[in-house]
Amino acid sequence: MPLPASNSLLGFNLQELADLCADFAQPAYRARQLFDAVYRQKIERLDQISTLPSEFRAVLTEKGWGIGMPAIDRKFVSRDGTVRYLLRLADGETVETVWMPEGDGGESGDGSEAGDEVDADSAPAAWRRATICVSSQVGCAVNCKFCFTALLGVKRNLEAGEIVGQIAAVLRDQAVEPPWQRVNIVFMGMGEPFLNYDNFMKSVRLLVEGVGIPESRMTVSTAGIVPRIYDFGREPVRPKLAISLNGSNDALRSEVMPLNRKWDLAELMKAAREFPLRTRERLTFEYVLLDEVNDAPEHAREVVKLVRGMRAKVNLIALNPGSELPYRTPDAARVAAFQKILTSAGIPAFVRRPRGRDIFAACGQLKGTVEVRLEPRVTSLDQIRSASDRK
Ligand code: SAH
Repeated sequence: MPLPASNSLLGFNLQELADLCADFAQPAYRARQLFDAVYRQKIERLDQISTLPSEFRAVLTEKGWGIGMPAIDRKFVSRDGTVRYLLRLADGETVETVWMPEGDGGESGDGSEAGDEVDADSAPAAWRRATICVSSQVGCAVNCKFCFTALLGVKRNLEAGEIVGQIAAVLRDQAVEPPWQRVNIVFMGMGEPFLNYDNFMKSVRLLVEGVGIPESRMTVSTAGIVPRIYDFGREPVRPKLAISLNGSNDALRSEVMPLNRKWDLAELMKAAREFPLRTRERLTFEYVLLDEVNDAPEHAREVVKLVRGMRAKVNLIALNPGSELPYRTPDAARVAAFQKILTSAGIPAFVRRPRGRDIFAACGQLKGTVEVRLEPRVTSLDQIRSASDRK
């Protein structure tokens, strides 16, 4: 079998590592050692893999092989503890990966709020859980009108190793070790995972088999690439599914997500209804609320009609705003009114807490922002008063 063109070990599965070892006339068990070093230990440099003979390390290096761990270019820490990483890839492109300590506010897809669930038997006392939000492409091609990543356009797909590499780099930096410490993964960063389907799915298998993160703790979000939703349903090992709805009728959804002209709501909801859920699994619909665009009571009632009868929940996200976007964020009362209509109709609906807005780490804000203007930290009532006095 020909080896993939890349010379990074990150991204290789056990079989591909075995083929590589055979090429170098190494015994088969070296593949397992490499697999363990790359994914479980997350070693950064070949010469640090002490289980391998130094001659083998030397010859691999000489032939241009390396681990391919993305480099941490910049790191922005939010006042809420969220960390946005700007990671540099081998060809110089950068992607963003977000670390959300102490829960994900429900993006894991189970509807639970941060901290209400602790793995008592597998976690040290202080550890609860964290979520990593990972990118699947450099930029994005989908062009949703409310999303900053759309402004970048798409540069290229990420390799499976570059997707796993984001997680490996962040886990290393945070000194967190699955499976002993609970980590959720959401494929909700830059890009559309279902437009990079094969690499995305390969990264899932490497995360499960190599890094030790069960697929039940992963959620992928799609803008609605309908044929891939059917493919995804047939995968023996797969994350949970979230679908970005964002519009309650075709006219509205086509306006905010032009992709709806290709796969409309009828097709999307048919795929969603036919999606083979596992026992106790629920589908998630995300709905970004845009002030006076898609957030009126009539829209909520349309969402009820779309979702009624499905084993699903709705995550409501008030727009994370920015001057480049033609939309405003609805106030809390409008958000609550929308949620009430859903819950009264028996549809579980949760309002997502924005994470890391101050460092441009929240949903839809990933666009490689390097200049972050931090507001002065306001910690006490006095400071709030004096801050507002100064205005
Ligand atoms: N391309 C995939 C994965 C990205 S997930 C998808 O579209 O689902 C990112 C989530 O954030 C999506 O549900 C998207 O609708 C939402 N989002 C995008 N821009 C946003 C913004 N400015 N404010 C709040 N949520 C946003």
